Amino acid sequence: MRRMKIERITVWQLDLPLHKPYYLSGGRLRFERLDSTLVRIDTDAGISGWGEGCPWGVTYLPAFGKGIRAGIDELAGVLLGMDPRQHDAINRALDLALPGHPYAKSALDIACWDIAARSAGLPLCELLGAREPDPVPIASSVSTGSPAEMLAEVQRFRDRGYRVHSCKVGADVGLDIERIRHLAANERAGEIIFYDVNRAWLPREAITVMNAIDGITSWFEQPCETLDEIAQVRRQTRHPIGIDEGLHDYQDMLRIQRDGIAELVNIKINRVGGLTRARRIRDLCLQTGITMLIMDTGGTVLADTAVAHFAQTIPAPSCLGVWSCQEMVEPDPAPGQGARNVDGCFSAPDLPGIGVEPDLALIGEPLAQYS
Ligand code: MG
Repeated sequence: MRRMKIERITVWQLDLPLHKPYYLSGGRLRFERLDSTLVRIDTDAGISGWGEGCPWGVTYLPAFGKGIRAGIDELAGVLLGMDPRQHDAINRALDLALPGHPYAKSALDIACWDIAARSAGLPLCELLGAREPDPVPIASSVSTGSPAEMLAEVQRFRDRGYRVHSCKVGADVGLDIERIRHLAANERAGEIIFYDVNRAWLPREAITVMNAIDGITSWFEQPCETLDEIAQVRRQTRHPIGIDEGLHDYQDMLRIQRDGIAELVNIKINRVGGLTRARRIRDLCLQTGITMLIMDTGGTVLADTAVAHFAQTIPAPSCLGVWSCQEMVEPDPAPGQGARNVDGCFSAPDLPGIGVEPDLALIGEPLAQYS
């Protein structure tokens, strides 16, 4: 179809209670429920697309559920009448109408990609450029606890097929060294255990812990709050470093690469503002040898499946894993659909678009509709 126009944007809010309370950043941040926003964009071609935006609570990043819905309320009128397949034009229009606020734009951008892939008759990963042959390993998310509690949690994930484990540390320096030594001593062949500090350490603490466990082969994700602090840690330690919360936009990515701050980045689609922006960051990483993890900040099988498609465009050595938020929350708005944990891996569905159609009977009445 030569021209296609966005005719209607519908928004739902979904409460996602966690199965159990979750702690990160050394235990200083506690989470019990997520606030997700589902978006459906309808076009005059009769093709619709779905997107989801779900921050990890309100304290993890400068992002919150009500902010997404306020952003969409501001932006919906800009998108009406536009062709959802022109992703760069869509993103330029969103940025002109509302500078910044990338997390509020992500679900809209994802829904536009879903439409583009459905209208092309292609699974999203193939429209995004590739379907790599191997399923993508799911990284666990192991809540901060005592060394024994954390190893027991790793074991529960192993029992579900997981081979990549993101263990949350970042409290007391002595206890962190104990946690890391205990987990590393119990790491199995073929398994990856890495340590996610979620910004909790000061540079002094990061340098102390990382140098104390010098013989352990692993990496540390987001050891400190800022890129400046992490650059300082980089100069005085030898382990690979990953950036997660510190990567918001392409400028951050350029700096991380140019200054050699990190060997890995965790691209969270909601945080960077959608698939169009995530794809630009992916390409820079591929060209410069930076390893990626691909995740979203939270959500249901819809967000997880968009992640699975995006991750499956990246050759295996450059993509270490994804994350399955769906296993930590309820309810499931699309039972039986989308990317599901099979032996600790996700595969992108072989259906046009994202391949997830939320069940309207399960997501309740929409909060807002723009047409
Ligand atoms: Mg992280």
